[in-house]
Amino acid sequence: MTFGVIEGTGFETVEPEFGGLLTGHGRVERLWTGARWSEGPAWFAAGRYLVWSDIPNNRMLRWDETDGSVSIFRDPANNSNGNTVDPQGRLVTCEHLTRRVTRTEHDGTVTVLADAHEGRRLNSPNDVVVRADGSVWFSDPSYGIMTDYEGVRQEQEIDACHVYRIDPDGTVTIAADDYVKPNGLAFSPDQRTLYVADTGASHDPDGPRHIRRHAVAEDGTLSGGEVIAECTAGLFDGFRLDTAGRIWSSAADGVHCLSPDGTLLGKIHIPEIVANVCFGGPKMNRLFICGTTSLYSAYLTVNGVPPYRR
Ligand code: MG
Repeated sequence: MTFGVIEGTGFETVEPEFGGLLTGHGRVERLWTGARWSEGPAWFAAGRYLVWSDIPNNRMLRWDETDGSVSIFRDPANNSNGNTVDPQGRLVTCEHLTRRVTRTEHDGTVTVLADAHEGRRLNSPNDVVVRADGSVWFSDPSYGIMTDYEGVRQEQEIDACHVYRIDPDGTVTIAADDYVKPNGLAFSPDQRTLYVADTGASHDPDGPRHIRRHAVAEDGTLSGGEVIAECTAGLFDGFRLDTAGRIWSSAADGVHCLSPDGTLLGKIHIPEIVANVCFGGPKMNRLFICGTTSLYSAYLTVNGVPPYRR
């Protein structure tokens, strides 16, 4: 752990509200470095550790809050990407190499939740969240099968990139079919709103680089889908929300904090491209930040929405 001010880090207030979200003397800590492309942080409250993916190195890592050590959680890891914790405290993982979403049970065995839709293999599940009703929502862009770098170059069987919902009975349904490259996603604290990032600009300069907002009906049907924020630095990849509904999103220059309506409130500057974040710590007031080679964190005065407690 580094206690000095890390070059390239800092806080930028855009709207006055942002200042109240910071601790005043707080700074960004670099907890560990040595990954190639960090993604998918997930906080395990009972174990006091964070699991995340190092996609090109085909491994998952674990940072232990009790002593700050980092060890291998899973290797090989099927080029895992996004991770989350379900309401029962189980790890749910998107895997590029095997083109599937899995759940790691309490006894350590791995259950496949989805690997196909209507007989066709998924592209490469990217990010995932679980709703209180047990439904699992994930994005399925094609990044993991476009090259061998973060998966394996393979044929795309589904001719588009969708957002999917897995119902508790295992049924896999297309939740949204009008995305170019759906990516990060997260629910509002009351779970009646789903935010989804589209990173279509990664391979088309004119493509989307925004976050959209959907209303979620009781049966899981989505409506709306309006764009609420355009990314002003690279792309919005993964993000998580605090208990007031603010969006803490990855971007090329760090973390962008957005109001629920998409207004940029401020930034946490990180000297590497950020791919994803999650809240953690016993009080859920610590933001963990996956920034390319490194794992960073910053304490805030706000608390994240815990995935395992409703
Ligand atoms: Mg992603």
